[in-house]
Amino acid sequence: MPASAQARFAPPSHDAPNAGAGEPIALASNESPFGPLPSVAQAIARAATRVNRYPDMGSAELAGRLALRYGVAAEQIALGAGSAALCLQLVRAACPRGDGEIAFSWRSFEAYPLFAAIAGAGQRRAPLGADHAPDLGALLAALSPATRLVFVCTPNNPTGVAVRAADLDAFVEAVPPGVLIVLDEAYREFVDDDTAADAVATARRWWSRGRDNVAVLRTFSKAYGLAGLRIGYLIAPPAVADAVRRGAPPYDVSALAQAAALASLDADRELAERCGVITHERRRVREALIEAGFDVPASQANFLWLPLAGRATRFAEHCLRRGVLVKAFAEDDGVRVTMGSARENDAFLAAAADFPRG
Ligand code: PMP
Repeated sequence: MPASAQARFAPPSHDAPNAGAGEPIALASNESPFGPLPSVAQAIARAATRVNRYPDMGSAELAGRLALRYGVAAEQIALGAGSAALCLQLVRAACPRGDGEIAFSWRSFEAYPLFAAIAGAGQRRAPLGADHAPDLGALLAALSPATRLVFVCTPNNPTGVAVRAADLDAFVEAVPPGVLIVLDEAYREFVDDDTAADAVATARRWWSRGRDNVAVLRTFSKAYGLAGLRIGYLIAPPAVADAVRRGAPPYDVSALAQAAALASLDADRELAERCGVITHERRRVREALIEAGFDVPASQANFLWLPLAGRATRFAEHCLRRGVLVKAFAEDDGVRVTMGSARENDAFLAAAADFPRG
């Protein structure tokens, strides 16, 4: 990352989300370390003068902009209060009376099993591969006649490993057309490996062959840094997008979120530079961790995964004592650390380096 780009994102806005005195450095939730771009903050402030009015219920301007960006029809876009809300709307649309099952690799985004439970749907889990990526062969084998929807998270949260393009194509081809394939690309903007699958390109290819069971989820929470505003989007065949929209409460996407997302779409260059800072840090921190003796899979997201079987909780507690909050996973099999600013990451590396071994 050139020094000029680093300087652009220097404090105070860089450090704003962790600014609370005495609070730990927040590297547990895959958020952006950057505060809002000035142009986005201005758009939010402008929208704030009109919050006595309801927002545009269909987010029409934003849907139109996203449709242009992806070369699809506006009716193929559904906005939601975060892509998490869209996940739940998808599960409910696929299993309307809780009568079907959803499938996903595990470990993956923790909301998938939660949403199955909320919708009253069954769930089938397939293991990740030895490379920590979703094992699409195992996922295919896990589908049953009752499976209505399958999530493929790429890059996978929490391991960061992406599915390969050729593997995803073979998977889509093999999945029965009655099963909706949801490609969850919350971290797409951080992908820099050309062999990684591009979900939108994959979906478009299959749509053009008449397959209408492929949908893509993206979010403004991660690379765009709008996690607190709750806005994400679905790109899908019209019938799927329509079912998802019909499952949303009225006015679920706020006017502030819509305005911020629109302003963000006008700031591609700045946001790409910020992603560059994060992917640079991802490389640097991974190399330092490997040097320190940790096993760290190559991530394509804004976080790294440390497989720490049986020691994950101890590692996270150790980091917290040194003022760094990372996420240990419930079954104690690993820790996920989000890439923050260089200073924050250095604090994490210092904590990791003196974690007692053995
Ligand atoms: N999908 C994945 C894979 C995620 O990791 C997350 C957030 N942790 C989401 C979806 C939801 O993000 P949001 O609701 O903020 O758009």
